[in-house]
Amino acid sequence: GKTVYIAGGGLAGCEAAYYLAERGHEVKLYEMRPLVQTPAHETEFLGELVCSNSLKSTLPDTSSGLLKEEMKILGSLVLAVAYQCQVPAGNALAVDRLDFAKGIDEIIRNHPHIEVISEELTDIPADRPCIIATGPLTSDKLAEKIKERFGGGLYFFDAIAPVISFDSVDMEKAFFKSRWEKGDNDYLNLGMNKEQYELFYNEMMASEKTEFKDFEKLNVYEGCMPIEEMGARGPQTLTFGPFRPVGLRHPVTEEKYYAVVQLRKENKEGTAYNLVGCQTKMKIPEQKRVFRLIPGLENAEFLRFGSIHRNTYIHSPGNLKRTFQTTADKDLYFAGQITGVEGYLESAASGILAAHSIIYPEFEGFHEETALGALARHVSGEVAENKKEYVPSNFHFGMLPGHGEKIRDKKLKKQMYADRALEHYKHLCD
Ligand code: FAD
Repeated sequence: GKTVYIAGGGLAGCEAAYYLAERGHEVKLYEMRPLVQTPAHETEFLGELVCSNSLKSTLPDTSSGLLKEEMKILGSLVLAVAYQCQVPAGNALAVDRLDFAKGIDEIIRNHPHIEVISEELTDIPADRPCIIATGPLTSDKLAEKIKERFGGGLYFFDAIAPVISFDSVDMEKAFFKSRWEKGDNDYLNLGMNKEQYELFYNEMMASEKTEFKDFEKLNVYEGCMPIEEMGARGPQTLTFGPFRPVGLRHPVTEEKYYAVVQLRKENKEGTAYNLVGCQTKMKIPEQKRVFRLIPGLENAEFLRFGSIHRNTYIHSPGNLKRTFQTTADKDLYFAGQITGVEGYLESAASGILAAHSIIYPEFEGFHEETALGALARHVSGEVAENKKEYVPSNFHFGMLPGHGEKIRDKKLKKQMYADRALEHYKHLCD
């Protein structure tokens, strides 16, 4: 076997390390935590999830469902551990964050073919083959070196939502229910009438926010957009967005609300809940004041405050091939969010891709009709929309080639994408 060097023990790094090690290769994995922390990680464990505890839908006719199926076939570590520490969340795969990170950490550190080296890398390692998977919060010195070498290092921002303790929610006002009764009433809901919502909205908009001196423009991802940015588009952006009340009448009184805030379980025990859609850049005292205006949260205890962080990625088109190999150095690879794939699973999936490319030098990438193939084409710049400006992306069905004929039934169309993709793995399943 080869000896492979991996920078960063996050989702992509751990997935790549495991894929290589399980196939008999030796891995030296560099991780700077806990010696140096990032602004979003909280533990010393490898594979920590920095924000939401959701790995999204498991339904086979959704893009995240398809990505999961493909990763399962390839023996994904992240998915295997996620299913072991699943918490109920309707059709989504949500996990106990701490159990998840501990699970990954234990498997990687105890693997006979993996050595974890506790060190902050300040430059691209000279050893080859090497995978850089230091993530969106790559430490400054290394980020500078990467930028020098691969040009136009870009910064985006990601926001995270507050987490509160279950005990502190007023259960006289809150109720358990999933929208349209899909799932096992996994969400905790807080209803607001028009007046209550308007008070919340106005106070939120007028609150003091964290300022960003160094950057003229605050670029944020749509999926992780701070609630204030969303609110700036008008009060109804929230009531038609994360706070939409449809399908969420009170189960006993049948009361209809003007807006409903949903809380999702953060851990198995259900002692901590995440305020869905409430990613914020409000200052901490303002978060306490404003979120406590939501009926039921008057005495909310904050286990974690919302915050906003930098997100670093390289300009992959032109720099990376479909194999996640750099065009400049055939033994240097990138994987994870730093390549401009977006999301926990996408990051992990790209780790598998880079590892697979190292093991099989003749490999040219998965078929373009698969989720993994589509992600690879996204980073290598073959997806049309990337021609002008390179923006990180989740995997979605729009990245796949069309069906050649118009299919009106949306559900059927998605199922056909999924079936077609999985056909390409048939030979691996036999
Ligand atoms: P990471 O998981 O961050 O792993 C990188 C590792 O490299 C870390 O352990 C870090 O400590 C280490 N490292 C960094 N620099 C060095 C160095 N110089 N030397 C050694 N080690 C180093 N995605 C979602 O799907 N859902 C979300 O809710 C979500 N929220 C996010 C919130 C924030 C604040 C951010 C920044 C990103 C979020 N993402 C989210 C995007 C992305 O999916 C995650 O960041 C994901 O963890 C990326 O995986 P990764 O392996 O690329 O990086």
